[in-house]
Amino acid sequence: MLTPFKATATALLTALCTVTLTGAIPPRLSSEALAQNRSTFSTPSTPAESSIYDQAREDLSPNLYMLYRIVERIARANGLTGHPWRVVVADDTLINAYATEVNLVIVHFGLLDQMAGDISALACVVGHEMAHHTERHIAIRTSRVADWQEEARSSNSREFQERMAKLAREHEEEADAIGYEYSVTAGFDPSGCVRGLEMLSRLPGTMRDSATHPSVPRRIESIQSLIDATPPEVLRSRGHLGLTTSDPLSYEMLEDKEWLRINSARGGSFVEDWNRLFPDEIIDPNFSPPEKDEEPATVESGE
Ligand SMILES: [Zn+2]
Repeated sequence: MLTPFKATATALLTALCTVTLTGAIPPRLSSEALAQNRSTFSTPSTPAESSIYDQAREDLSPNLYMLYRIVERIARANGLTGHPWRVVVADDTLINAYATEVNLVIVHFGLLDQMAGDISALACVVGHEMAHHTERHIAIRTSRVADWQEEARSSNSREFQERMAKLAREHEEEADAIGYEYSVTAGFDPSGCVRGLEMLSRLPGTMRDSATHPSVPRRIESIQSLIDATPPEVLRSRGHLGLTTSDPLSYEMLEDKEWLRINSARGGSFVEDWNRLFPDEIIDPNFSPPEKDEEPATVESGE
């Protein structure tokens, strides 16, 4: 069920509009697209990487697999492996993605459909949502809103709304800039952000500033300035270092396979972490508690 996420979703949206699509199943990313990505930033994979990635390819749907690879790559290239990340594909036609709760990124099917074949545009969106988390935008916004609501009782609510909108747009600009940096550092095409935003500019209401986002033309202009100001090669070489000096991040499907957890560099097992910390008190990783309805063992009693 996606209801809990929807209920707690904040308004950190990449777009605010509902666009009905045909609901067609997106094609798998072509081998040419993947080969193109490899050719722009080639990182030889080690046997450990191969086995985790091969297993993921078997376990996950094509879209979720690609989201795993994007998040995992961005996290390792940018040193964001200290905490787990979470990804959900929302099965509807909204052209949207957002950040909510803690390290949770929701990507709607409609967005995947419109970005099919453009892994760099998708990586830019994912980087943008990850940036909302790393910059603590949700927490900052919640605490500022609480402060301003207090003040608004003695002032006018219009000023409160304007402050909220200004803060939201500032956060979006920051997430755009950091999302660009994250995705390019991980080796994705710098123009992916521009292509993604151009697609969003076809949605109604995106050509001017809204209460939550700057206008898309202004966002594209900012990305162009970033491309000019920070040569992508510099970011890529930084990312290359991060990728070649870290191990692949493992993953786990949780809650009836409705969200994908991409584990931190520590892995996803409390038992393994315990065993690293207390080598003299090793816990069997395969230990499992007895079934609840199992008959208790009978004890023979002498009479
Ligand atoms: Zn955003």
